[in-house]
Parts: sequence; structure tokens; C-alpha cells
Amino acid sequence: MARVDRLKTVFVDEIPEILEDGILYVSEECRVALHNCACGCGEEVSTPLVRTEYRLTIEGDAASIWPSIGNHDFACASHYVIKQGEILWAGKMSRGAIEAGRERDRRLKRPPAPKPLPSRIPAPKPGQPFANALVKRTLDWIVDVWRKLFG
Ligand SMILES: [Zn+2]
Repeated sequence: MARVDRLKTVFVDEIPEILEDGILYVSEECRVALHNCACGCGEEVSTPLVRTEYRLTIEGDAASIWPSIGNHDFACASHYVIKQGEILWAGKMSRGAIEAGRERDRRLKRPPAPKPLPSRIPAPKPGQPFANALVKRTLDWIVDVWRKLFG
């Protein structure tokens, strides 16, 4: 296990059980790319290729992945960018930068605002004396207040 500075891109249909160091496995079917952490620690790095996660671009057989790979949850805490198959080592991210990145993820992943629920208050129907009485009392009260204020 040694640090690698390049990743070879290999397209696969299914993700192999054991990943080899220095290889970026891309499964378009599963919309994911996987590689062993480039520092050589042996941790598996999974980069989901969905809009809110990572973007993969292939030029020739060299892959670029954006944004940067930040393995803050691994002991090595390595942080790098994969650009045209090359590992560009980035400095360790500060806590603040990590939190900012996570906050950005949260914003992107937040589902669209839910549609307003249909009103649960049933419209008064004829033949419902209680509801009608309640509505009438409420209307009377509003009229009363209105008169007091503006009458
Ligand atoms: Zn590592």
C-alpha cells in the first residue's frame, strides 16, 4: 500500500469486491466511481456520480472528478482532487471548510418545498347545524369587531 499519484480509469458494470490501488472504477450503470484512497491507507472511497455529489469528466482515458475528494472520515483525512487521472494533493481541510462543504451538500440535497396541504377545514355543508352555527357565530364576531373598529 503506497501513495499513488495517478489513477487509471477502468469502466465496469459491477463494482469488484476488492479494489486495486491506483485504479478508478467507474460504473455508469450504478452511477458511482470507486477507488482506494490515494494515500494508500486502503480505505475505499465511493464517489456517487449524481448531480448533488460528484461530477465525472473523462478525457481520453483520464478521469477528472469534481469537487475534491475529502476523506475526513478516514484516519488519514486525506484531501485531493482527481484531475485528468492525476492526484492533486490539497491541504487538509479546516473544520470550517468541511462544515461549509457539508452545509452546501445539505442545501443541494434539500428536497423542493412541499406543496401546501389541502385545507383540512371542511367547508360547511347544509344540514350540519352545528358547523353552520359555529360559522355564523364566527362571522357575527368578525362583523361585531369590524363595527367596533370602523363603525
Ligand atoms: Zn487514505
